[in-house]
Amino acid sequence: MAETLCTADTHVGYRNVSYRGCTNHYSLHFLLALSRLSSMEAKQKLQQRLQNSIFPSHSPIYKSLLQAGPRLRPLQQVHAQIIVSGFQRSRALLTKLLTLACTSGSIFYTRQLFFSVPNPDSFLFNSLIKASSKYGFPFDAIFFYQRMQFQRLFQSNFTFTAVIKACADLSALKIGKVVHSHVLVCGFGSDSFVQAALVTFYSKSGDLFIARKVFDKMIERTVIAWNSMISGYEQNGFAKEAVEVFYWMQEVRVQPDSATFVSLLSACSQLGALGLGQWVNDYIVDNGFVLNVILGTSLINMYARCGNVEKAREVFDRMHERNVVSWTAMISGYGMHGYGSQAVELFHFMRSHGPRPNDVTFVAILSACAHAGLVNEGHEAFTCMKRDYGLVPRMEHHVCMVDMLGRAAFLNEAIQYIEELIPGEPAPAVWTAMLGACKMHKNFNLGVKVAEHLLAIEPENPGHYVLLSNIYALAGRMDRVETIRSMMIRRGLKKQVGYSLIEFNHKTHMFCMGDKSHPQTTEIYLYLDELMSKSRDAGYIPEPDSVMHELEEEEREFMLRFHSEKLAIAFGLMNTDHGTPITIVKNLRMCGDCHLAIKFISIVTNREIIVRDKHRFHHFRDGSCSCQEYW
Ligand SMILES: [Zn+2]
Ligand SMILES: [Zn+2]
Repeated sequence: MAETLCTADTHVGYRNVSYRGCTNHYSLHFLLALSRLSSMEAKQKLQQRLQNSIFPSHSPIYKSLLQAGPRLRPLQQVHAQIIVSGFQRSRALLTKLLTLACTSGSIFYTRQLFFSVPNPDSFLFNSLIKASSKYGFPFDAIFFYQRMQFQRLFQSNFTFTAVIKACADLSALKIGKVVHSHVLVCGFGSDSFVQAALVTFYSKSGDLFIARKVFDKMIERTVIAWNSMISGYEQNGFAKEAVEVFYWMQEVRVQPDSATFVSLLSACSQLGALGLGQWVNDYIVDNGFVLNVILGTSLINMYARCGNVEKAREVFDRMHERNVVSWTAMISGYGMHGYGSQAVELFHFMRSHGPRPNDVTFVAILSACAHAGLVNEGHEAFTCMKRDYGLVPRMEHHVCMVDMLGRAAFLNEAIQYIEELIPGEPAPAVWTAMLGACKMHKNFNLGVKVAEHLLAIEPENPGHYVLLSNIYALAGRMDRVETIRSMMIRRGLKKQVGYSLIEFNHKTHMFCMGDKSHPQTTEIYLYLDELMSKSRDAGYIPEPDSVMHELEEEEREFMLRFHSEKLAIAFGLMNTDHGTPITIVKNLRMCGDCHLAIKFISIVTNREIIVRDKHRFHHFRDGSCSCQEYW
């Protein structure tokens, strides 16, 4: 309490007391030296008086310390006052001074002070470890912890929670594991605070197996522990597991808080789990949670990434407070769905009424323009980025510009942009965008050059080999396709495995190419056969090219129809009522044949099918796609 008051009153307090009795013009070092020279007798007397008694918290010096608060200069002045008054050995004063110094952010001064304390005790160490861990000095927290170990002082659960947090901030897995062993030796293995800290530490360090082991052993799980486990899974790409832990949390009736929802919504975004995301939204509303800026932005992201951009906008409009991240999320949401003009409109509105756009906002708007073919608007945004906001374009912005020009068939301009406007060596992503454009506009000669260049800068990336073999195949140079493939095999490079996700009944179902693991496999394949024959009757002709070219996705499988997205769509259509839109999330780019087939499926079933691929959304309705072949 005293600390909080003191922080709030610091400013006033400092003005009133800082010069009282304090020799401001004396340098600290001089005073330190002076204190060392003081007579032995006086020293002994003081030591007796101070070390045997607790320093009274109502004494003027202690009050001065509280009033100085966590600010370096006033603290140094009180420090001088302490030395002059002969209290430099008071444990209470030094501990307070040290923690305040650490809180003030001056870790150098803190360390200096620390070394002037003879035989520091557990309490001092604990305060220091706690403060340095809390105020962003994880290295120092670990340093003080090691000193404490060295001096064989008693460690409490506070010591461990603080030092484990420091290890988590540094993702220092090795040191953290050593601390974990100390925890067990010292008998704190079942302390719920220490366990919660360990769960966070292992989750943040990416060792989810041990995180889960510690979590499972916990008898008392706080909401913080649940949140750590959920966010650990979510941030390491195990969205499904994150959702499962959340369902478990619901079963044991632990009340979630807004941090739970932020992680959960992000997991929903990864999975395209609109149903669960919608449920979270309702829960937030029904339980009177404040739609703060973080939660609101998470909802925007979830709706946009789960295919419902209109709902995202509803949340955006409902938010009382929005920051640059919320605006950017909304613009990027429009962009992902190919709603370029809405993105541009919102961006203009942001410029006149919203917060100052940052460089991420510009990535969002440029990418929206690229995906919607809005070349003029994109150029305009790029110009104002530098002119009006003084932002220097980063590689991401250059990638968007090349992508935008390339998609709009300005291949020469795109190459010129790469050669003249990008300082230094262009990142592989720039060449990848260029290559995509060459493929889209069937300029295979340029494509081969770009792909070879790409391979030269990143010879270990399997994706580049795939792209190069695609482009050779398109150019009809099958001999080169074989060479590239065998090169890839020789180097032991494996391409990414494609999969598609679909949410049904609050559960996510995953399909891989030719998957036969689903309980409904027989029905799915029969239904898919029927679907494809109906589509053929409606005029669909499979694109055999895709088998050859789209090696990136699912290589040359024997049959195109078993691509993961087709299986997921068949499953979705079979199990949902007529009129319900189907949403699929695919981890890679769709192949040309799937894109074409889904158009026909949308006709013969009279359904809306939404597919999120690696780059954007495709809304298929009545035989056409929202991307207008722009992908
Ligand atoms: Zn396909
Ligand atoms: Zn499309």
